[in-house]
Amino acid sequence: MRLALALLMALAASPAHAQLNLDFNRIVDTVKNAGKAFKDIDQPEEIQIGHDMAARLLGAAPLVPDAKLQQYLNKVGVWLAAQTERPDLPWRFGVMDAPQLNAFAVPGGTIFVTRGLVARMKSEAELAGVLAHEIAHVLRKHHLKAIQKGAQTALAGEALSTAVQSQNSAAREKLISFGTEMYTRGLDKSDELEADRLGVVIAARAGYDAYGLPGVLQTLQAMNAEDSGLALMFKTHPAPAERLDALGEKMQPTLDRYARQPPLAERFVRETKLVK
Ligand SMILES: [Zn+2]
Repeated sequence: MRLALALLMALAASPAHAQLNLDFNRIVDTVKNAGKAFKDIDQPEEIQIGHDMAARLLGAAPLVPDAKLQQYLNKVGVWLAAQTERPDLPWRFGVMDAPQLNAFAVPGGTIFVTRGLVARMKSEAELAGVLAHEIAHVLRKHHLKAIQKGAQTALAGEALSTAVQSQNSAAREKLISFGTEMYTRGLDKSDELEADRLGVVIAARAGYDAYGLPGVLQTLQAMNAEDSGLALMFKTHPAPAERLDALGEKMQPTLDRYARQPPLAERFVRETKLVK
């Protein structure tokens, strides 16, 4: 029942020209043997790890106390997630009350975007582009893979399976700390560029102007790189110019083909006016 309601809300938020049959596996590299690498972290464990990491991140910066804004973000986010191969994850989206410009994806489907970044966006298509980039990290398990790769050192000999399965254990605590620290170190550049490509496709599939994410990257590029609000974003992501070049190289003519879809600027301005 709750799921049906969420879907209904998501559909109500969708742009008019939704339901495109855009096959992203044709455009974005398909990950082979992904299942093999994850045999010791199943989906309920992925969701639980993400839940603990989200709680830790929210301890650092709480959500903006505006239920209508958070509802709007969730409508857009759930609609985007519904276009992907993991629509059944417990997707949740939140605007964090932080002036910096950033967005985070936590394993299992929790996604945060900062108030500072939302305030710089010009349309719902731009918001969708950023959320879809983060959704792509979850779909491809980029953070989960990085945790799994780095966990052996962090756990100093303790088995990953113990850390994943035994809640409230010291090993579990180390795993979650390691996972949370990842947001200050960043992912591999190839993961970021893949999330850009997949994000553009998800947003286009959901009916948005495909230039939403490139629009945000252009805004970041035009800002002063010394701006303290950009420090973490610039440290953890490739430079905006490089991301734009990579998108142009791999995503044409797809970008232009889906550029005429609605950006929904007015609705975005109306729904987010409190963060500005
Ligand atoms: Zn990213």
